[in-house]
Amino acid sequence: MSARVLDGNVVANQIREEIRPRVEAYRARHGRPPGLGIVLVGDDPASHVYVRNKVKSGMDVGFAVDLHQMPASSSLDEVLAVVDRLNRSETHDGILVQSPLPPALGDEAERVVFDAIDPAKDVDGFSPVNVGRLVQKRAVLMACTPAGIVELLDRSGIAIAGQRAVIIGRSDIVGKPMAMMLLHRDATVTLCHSKTRDLAGVAASADILVAAIGRAGFVTTDFVKPGATVVDVGMNRVDDPAVAARLFSPGSAKLEQFARKGSVLVGDVHPSVAEVAGALTPVPGGVGPLTIALLMKNTLRAAEARAGRP
Ligand code: NAP
Repeated sequence: MSARVLDGNVVANQIREEIRPRVEAYRARHGRPPGLGIVLVGDDPASHVYVRNKVKSGMDVGFAVDLHQMPASSSLDEVLAVVDRLNRSETHDGILVQSPLPPALGDEAERVVFDAIDPAKDVDGFSPVNVGRLVQKRAVLMACTPAGIVELLDRSGIAIAGQRAVIIGRSDIVGKPMAMMLLHRDATVTLCHSKTRDLAGVAASADILVAAIGRAGFVTTDFVKPGATVVDVGMNRVDDPAVAARLFSPGSAKLEQFARKGSVLVGDVHPSVAEVAGALTPVPGGVGPLTIALLMKNTLRAAEARAGRP
Protein backbone atom coordinates (compact mmCIF):
# COMPACT_ATOMS: atom_id res chain seq x y z
CA MET A 1 0.00 0.00 0.00
CA SER A 2 1.23 3.52 -0.70
CA ALA A 3 -0.15 6.48 1.23
CA ARG A 4 -2.47 9.01 -0.39
CA VAL A 5 -0.44 12.13 -1.15
CA LEU A 6 -1.82 15.30 0.46
CA ASP A 7 -0.83 17.91 -2.12
CA GLY A 8 -0.17 21.26 -0.44
CA ASN A 9 0.12 23.11 -3.75
CA VAL A 10 -3.45 22.21 -4.74
CA VAL A 11 -4.88 23.43 -1.43
CA ALA A 12 -2.67 26.54 -1.43
CA ASN A 13 -4.00 27.41 -4.90
CA GLN A 14 -7.59 26.98 -3.70
CA ILE A 15 -6.91 29.35 -0.80
CA ARG A 16 -5.30 31.93 -3.11
CA GLU A 17 -8.26 31.77 -5.50
CA GLU A 18 -10.60 32.45 -2.56
CA ILE A 19 -8.47 35.40 -1.44
CA ARG A 20 -8.39 37.18 -4.81
CA PRO A 21 -12.06 38.31 -4.97
CA ARG A 22 -11.93 39.42 -1.33
CA VAL A 23 -8.85 41.53 -2.14
CA GLU A 24 -10.76 43.07 -5.05
CA ALA A 25 -13.75 43.80 -2.80
CA TYR A 26 -11.42 45.37 -0.22
CA ARG A 27 -9.77 47.52 -2.89
CA ALA A 28 -13.13 48.67 -4.28
CA ARG A 29 -14.34 49.60 -0.82
CA HIS A 30 -11.22 51.27 0.56
CA GLY A 31 -9.54 52.63 -2.55
CA ARG A 32 -6.34 50.70 -1.94
CA PRO A 33 -5.32 47.03 -1.70
CA PRO A 34 -4.37 45.40 1.60
CA GLY A 35 -0.75 46.25 2.35
CA LEU A 36 1.96 43.90 3.59
CA GLY A 37 5.26 45.22 4.92
CA ILE A 38 8.13 42.71 4.98
CA VAL A 39 11.38 43.39 6.82
CA LEU A 40 14.43 41.38 5.80
CA VAL A 41 17.65 41.95 7.72
CA GLY A 42 20.97 40.47 6.60
CA ASP A 43 22.15 38.04 3.95
CA ASP A 44 20.86 34.61 5.01
CA PRO A 45 20.35 32.90 1.61
CA ALA A 46 17.36 30.77 2.74
CA SER A 47 15.64 33.88 4.15
CA HIS A 48 16.12 35.66 0.84
CA VAL A 49 14.44 32.74 -0.98
CA TYR A 50 11.53 32.66 1.51
CA VAL A 51 11.04 36.42 1.28
CA ARG A 52 11.15 36.37 -2.52
CA ASN A 53 8.35 33.77 -2.47
CA LYS A 54 6.31 35.80 0.00
CA VAL A 55 6.65 38.99 -2.06
CA LYS A 56 5.68 37.11 -5.24
CA SER A 57 2.71 35.45 -3.57
CA GLY A 58 1.49 38.71 -2.06
CA MET A 59 1.67 40.56 -5.37
CA ASP A 60 0.00 37.62 -7.10
CA VAL A 61 -3.13 37.91 -4.91
CA GLY A 62 -3.21 41.70 -5.38
CA PHE A 63 -1.64 43.07 -2.20
CA ALA A 64 0.65 46.09 -2.09
CA VAL A 65 3.85 44.47 -0.86
CA ASP A 66 6.56 46.67 0.55
CA LEU A 67 9.95 45.01 1.15
CA HIS A 68 12.38 46.69 3.56
CA GLN A 69 15.81 45.17 3.06
CA MET A 70 18.33 46.08 5.72
CA PRO A 71 22.06 45.25 5.95
CA ALA A 72 23.32 42.66 8.44
CA SER A 73 25.13 45.50 10.20
CA SER A 74 21.81 47.16 11.16
CA SER A 75 21.33 47.87 14.84
CA LEU A 76 18.36 46.65 16.85
CA ASP A 77 17.18 50.26 17.16
CA GLU A 78 17.19 50.64 13.38
CA VAL A 79 15.08 47.49 12.96
CA LEU A 80 12.71 48.66 15.68
CA ALA A 81 12.41 52.05 13.96
CA VAL A 82 11.23 50.34 10.75
CA VAL A 83 8.72 48.25 12.71
CA ASP A 84 7.49 51.40 14.44
CA ARG A 85 7.00 53.14 11.09
CA LEU A 86 5.02 50.17 9.77
CA ASN A 87 2.96 50.02 12.98
CA ARG A 88 1.94 53.65 12.47
CA SER A 89 1.31 53.37 8.75
CA GLU A 90 -2.32 53.53 7.66
CA THR A 91 -1.62 51.55 4.48
CA HIS A 92 0.29 48.62 5.98
CA ASP A 93 -2.18 46.06 7.32
CA GLY A 94 0.32 43.26 7.89
CA ILE A 95 3.93 43.28 9.12
CA LEU A 96 6.33 40.41 8.84
CA VAL A 97 9.91 40.39 10.07
CA GLN A 98 11.74 37.47 8.49
CA SER A 99 13.33 35.08 10.97
CA PRO A 100 16.15 34.47 11.79
CA LEU A 101 17.56 37.92 12.50
CA PRO A 102 21.38 38.18 12.21
CA PRO A 103 23.06 36.68 15.32
CA ALA A 104 24.97 39.96 15.84
CA LEU A 105 21.69 41.59 16.95
CA GLY A 106 21.77 39.41 20.08
CA ASP A 107 19.85 36.46 21.51
CA GLU A 108 16.84 38.51 22.57
CA ALA A 109 16.50 40.47 19.31
CA GLU A 110 13.74 38.34 17.77
CA ARG A 111 11.64 38.43 20.90
CA VAL A 112 12.08 42.21 21.22
CA VAL A 113 11.24 42.81 17.55
CA PHE A 114 8.27 40.43 17.41
CA ASP A 115 6.92 41.92 20.64
CA ALA A 116 7.12 45.38 19.04
CA ILE A 117 4.82 44.49 16.13
CA ASP A 118 1.25 45.77 16.55
CA PRO A 119 -0.78 42.58 17.31
CA ALA A 120 -3.43 43.77 14.83
CA LYS A 121 -0.78 43.63 12.07
CA ASP A 122 1.07 40.52 13.29
CA VAL A 123 0.39 38.28 10.27
CA ASP A 124 2.80 35.59 11.54
CA GLY A 125 0.68 35.22 14.68
CA PHE A 126 3.79 35.26 16.89
CA SER A 127 2.92 38.12 19.25
CA PRO A 128 2.07 37.15 22.84
CA VAL A 129 -1.33 38.82 22.39
CA ASN A 130 -2.22 36.63 19.41
CA VAL A 131 -0.81 33.51 21.08
CA GLY A 132 -2.96 34.26 24.13
CA ARG A 133 -6.02 34.73 21.94
CA LEU A 134 -5.28 31.41 20.24
CA VAL A 135 -5.20 29.67 23.62
CA GLN A 136 -8.58 31.27 24.40
CA LYS A 137 -9.97 30.16 21.02
CA ARG A 138 -10.63 33.70 19.78
CA ALA A 139 -7.65 34.33 17.52
CA VAL A 140 -7.93 36.30 14.30
CA LEU A 141 -4.24 35.91 13.39
CA MET A 142 -2.77 32.47 14.02
CA ALA A 143 0.64 30.95 13.21
CA CYS A 144 0.63 30.19 9.49
CA THR A 145 2.19 26.71 9.37
CA PRO A 146 -0.19 24.95 11.79
CA ALA A 147 -3.18 26.93 10.44
CA GLY A 148 -2.22 25.71 6.96
CA ILE A 149 -2.10 22.13 8.21
CA VAL A 150 -5.65 22.41 9.59
CA GLU A 151 -6.81 23.75 6.20
CA LEU A 152 -5.06 20.85 4.46
CA LEU A 153 -6.71 18.25 6.70
CA ASP A 154 -10.14 19.86 6.34
CA ARG A 155 -9.96 20.22 2.59
CA SER A 156 -8.64 16.67 2.22
CA GLY A 157 -11.67 15.30 4.10
CA ILE A 158 -9.61 14.07 7.06
CA ALA A 159 -11.63 14.14 10.28
CA ILE A 160 -10.03 15.82 13.29
CA ALA A 161 -12.72 15.67 16.00
CA GLY A 162 -12.34 12.69 18.29
CA GLN A 163 -9.06 11.64 16.64
CA ARG A 164 -5.89 10.99 18.55
CA ALA A 165 -3.31 13.56 17.39
CA VAL A 166 0.38 13.35 18.28
CA ILE A 167 2.75 16.23 17.52
CA ILE A 168 6.51 15.78 17.71
CA GLY A 169 8.18 19.16 18.35
CA ARG A 170 7.09 21.92 20.73
CA SER A 171 8.33 25.09 19.05
CA ASP A 172 6.42 28.36 19.44
CA ILE A 173 5.86 28.59 15.69
CA VAL A 174 4.73 25.04 14.89
CA GLY A 175 4.32 22.46 17.67
CA LYS A 176 2.60 24.49 20.39
CA PRO A 177 0.10 26.36 18.19
CA MET A 178 -0.57 23.10 16.30
CA ALA A 179 -1.49 21.42 19.59
CA MET A 180 -3.86 24.24 20.45
CA MET A 181 -5.54 24.29 17.02
CA LEU A 182 -6.09 20.53 16.99
CA LEU A 183 -7.37 20.66 20.57
CA HIS A 184 -9.88 23.37 19.57
CA ARG A 185 -11.01 21.06 16.80
CA ASP A 186 -11.73 18.36 19.42
CA ALA A 187 -8.78 16.07 18.78
CA THR A 188 -7.16 14.37 21.77
CA VAL A 189 -3.69 15.86 21.63
CA THR A 190 -0.28 14.69 22.83
CA LEU A 191 2.68 17.04 22.40
CA CYS A 192 6.08 15.30 22.30
CA HIS A 193 9.65 16.59 22.47
CA SER A 194 13.24 15.46 22.99
CA LYS A 195 12.56 14.24 26.54
CA THR A 196 9.49 12.18 25.68
CA ARG A 197 9.85 8.54 26.75
CA ASP A 198 8.94 5.80 24.24
CA LEU A 199 8.49 8.38 21.50
CA ALA A 200 7.86 5.79 18.78
CA GLY A 201 5.24 4.06 20.94
CA VAL A 202 3.43 7.33 21.67
CA ALA A 203 3.57 8.37 18.00
CA ALA A 204 2.21 5.00 16.92
CA SER A 205 -0.99 5.68 18.87
CA ALA A 206 -1.80 8.62 16.57
CA ASP A 207 -4.54 8.84 13.99
CA ILE A 208 -2.92 12.13 12.97
CA LEU A 209 0.86 12.43 13.43
CA VAL A 210 2.57 15.79 12.90
CA ALA A 211 6.38 15.78 12.69
CA ALA A 212 8.03 19.17 13.31
CA ILE A 213 11.49 18.25 14.52
CA GLY A 214 14.09 19.37 11.98
CA ARG A 215 15.81 15.97 11.54
CA ALA A 216 15.88 14.32 8.15
CA GLY A 217 13.94 11.05 8.01
CA PHE A 218 13.61 10.84 11.81
CA VAL A 219 10.08 9.39 11.80
CA THR A 220 10.38 5.79 10.67
CA THR A 221 7.68 3.16 10.08
CA ASP A 222 7.68 2.06 13.74
CA PHE A 223 6.35 5.55 14.65
CA VAL A 224 3.28 5.14 12.45
CA LYS A 225 0.01 3.32 12.98
CA PRO A 226 -1.07 1.66 9.72
CA GLY A 227 -3.51 3.98 7.94
CA ALA A 228 -2.62 7.08 10.00
CA THR A 229 -2.41 10.56 8.48
CA VAL A 230 1.18 11.83 8.67
CA VAL A 231 1.99 15.52 8.26
CA ASP A 232 5.66 16.23 7.60
CA VAL A 233 6.60 19.79 8.53
CA GLY A 234 10.37 19.26 8.39
CA MET A 235 12.52 20.93 5.75
CA ASN A 236 16.03 19.58 5.88
CA ARG A 237 18.72 19.95 3.25
CA VAL A 238 20.72 16.71 3.00
CA ASP A 239 24.17 16.98 1.43
CA ASP A 240 25.83 13.91 2.99
CA PRO A 241 25.82 10.94 0.58
CA ALA A 242 25.65 8.47 3.50
CA VAL A 243 22.46 10.12 4.81
CA ALA A 244 20.96 10.20 1.32
CA ALA A 245 21.72 6.47 0.90
CA ARG A 246 20.04 5.73 4.25
CA LEU A 247 16.91 7.62 3.22
CA PHE A 248 16.39 6.73 -0.42
CA SER A 249 16.40 3.40 -2.19
CA PRO A 250 18.82 2.84 -5.10
CA GLY A 251 17.35 4.07 -8.38
CA SER A 252 14.77 6.33 -6.68
CA ALA A 253 14.09 9.76 -8.17
CA LYS A 254 15.33 11.50 -5.00
CA LEU A 255 18.65 9.67 -5.07
CA GLU A 256 19.08 10.61 -8.72
CA GLN A 257 18.29 14.21 -7.81
CA PHE A 258 20.91 14.02 -5.06
CA ALA A 259 23.53 12.68 -7.50
CA ARG A 260 22.72 15.51 -9.93
CA LYS A 261 22.58 18.45 -7.51
CA GLY A 262 24.71 17.28 -4.58
CA SER A 263 21.89 17.93 -2.12
CA VAL A 264 18.21 17.21 -1.69
CA LEU A 265 15.40 18.65 0.44
CA VAL A 266 13.81 16.09 2.77
CA GLY A 267 11.27 16.12 5.56
CA ASP A 268 11.35 14.70 9.07
CA VAL A 269 9.52 11.60 7.87
CA HIS A 270 11.41 8.68 6.34
CA PRO A 271 10.20 7.89 2.80
CA SER A 272 9.38 4.28 3.80
CA VAL A 273 6.50 5.65 5.93
CA ALA A 274 4.55 6.00 2.68
CA GLU A 275 4.10 2.22 2.80
CA VAL A 276 2.38 2.35 6.21
CA ALA A 277 0.56 5.69 6.43
CA GLY A 278 -2.92 6.21 5.01
CA ALA A 279 -2.11 9.77 3.91
CA LEU A 280 1.14 11.73 3.86
CA THR A 281 2.30 15.24 2.96
CA PRO A 282 5.27 15.34 0.55
CA VAL A 283 8.41 17.45 1.03
CA PRO A 284 8.61 19.70 -0.87
CA GLY A 285 5.05 20.46 -1.95
CA GLY A 286 3.21 19.66 1.28
CA VAL A 287 3.17 22.03 4.24
CA GLY A 288 5.52 24.66 2.71
CA PRO A 289 3.11 26.16 0.14
CA LEU A 290 0.35 26.26 2.76
CA THR A 291 2.43 28.36 5.11
CA ILE A 292 2.69 31.07 2.47
CA ALA A 293 -1.00 30.79 1.50
CA LEU A 294 -1.98 31.25 5.15
CA LEU A 295 0.29 34.27 5.39
CA MET A 296 -1.77 35.78 2.57
CA LYS A 297 -5.00 34.84 4.32
CA ASN A 298 -3.79 36.42 7.56
CA THR A 299 -2.86 39.63 5.74
CA LEU A 300 -6.34 39.86 4.23
CA ARG A 301 -7.89 39.10 7.62
CA ALA A 302 -5.75 41.78 9.27
CA ALA A 303 -6.82 44.31 6.61
CA GLU A 304 -10.51 43.43 6.95
CA ALA A 305 -10.34 43.49 10.74
CA ARG A 306 -8.55 46.88 10.77
CA ALA A 307 -11.10 48.31 8.37
CA GLY A 308 -13.89 47.12 10.65
CA ARG A 309 -12.25 48.69 13.69
CA PRO A 310 -13.98 51.71 15.20
P1 NAP B 1 12.64 23.86 16.47
O1 NAP B 1 12.25 25.16 17.04
O2 NAP B 1 14.08 23.52 16.27
O3 NAP B 1 11.98 22.71 17.37
C1 NAP B 1 12.26 21.37 17.16
C2 NAP B 1 11.48 20.53 18.13
O4 NAP B 1 11.80 19.18 17.86
C3 NAP B 1 11.82 20.81 19.59
O5 NAP B 1 10.62 20.91 20.35
C4 NAP B 1 12.64 19.60 20.01
O6 NAP B 1 12.43 19.19 21.34
C5 NAP B 1 12.09 18.53 19.09
N1 NAP B 1 13.09 17.49 18.90
C6 NAP B 1 14.36 17.64 18.46
N2 NAP B 1 14.99 16.43 18.49
C7 NAP B 1 14.09 15.54 18.94
C8 NAP B 1 14.14 14.15 19.21
N3 NAP B 1 15.26 13.43 19.01
N4 NAP B 1 13.02 13.54 19.68
C9 NAP B 1 11.90 14.26 19.90
N5 NAP B 1 11.79 15.58 19.67
C10 NAP B 1 12.88 16.20 19.20
O7 NAP B 1 11.97 23.58 15.05
P2 NAP B 1 10.72 24.25 14.27
O8 NAP B 1 11.00 25.68 14.06
O9 NAP B 1 9.43 23.83 14.90
O10 NAP B 1 10.88 23.49 12.87
C11 NAP B 1 10.84 22.09 12.77
C12 NAP B 1 11.07 21.71 11.32
O11 NAP B 1 10.01 22.23 10.54
C13 NAP B 1 12.35 22.27 10.70
O12 NAP B 1 12.84 21.34 9.76
C14 NAP B 1 11.87 23.52 9.98
O13 NAP B 1 12.70 23.85 8.88
C15 NAP B 1 10.51 23.06 9.50
N6 NAP B 1 9.55 24.14 9.27
C16 NAP B 1 8.89 24.12 8.09
C17 NAP B 1 7.92 25.07 7.83
C18 NAP B 1 7.19 25.03 6.54
O14 NAP B 1 6.57 26.01 6.17
N7 NAP B 1 7.21 23.90 5.84
C19 NAP B 1 7.64 26.06 8.77
C20 NAP B 1 8.32 26.04 10.00
C21 NAP B 1 9.26 25.05 10.24
P3 NAP B 1 12.91 20.07 22.62
O15 NAP B 1 11.90 21.18 22.73
O16 NAP B 1 12.83 19.12 23.76
O17 NAP B 1 14.28 20.57 22.30
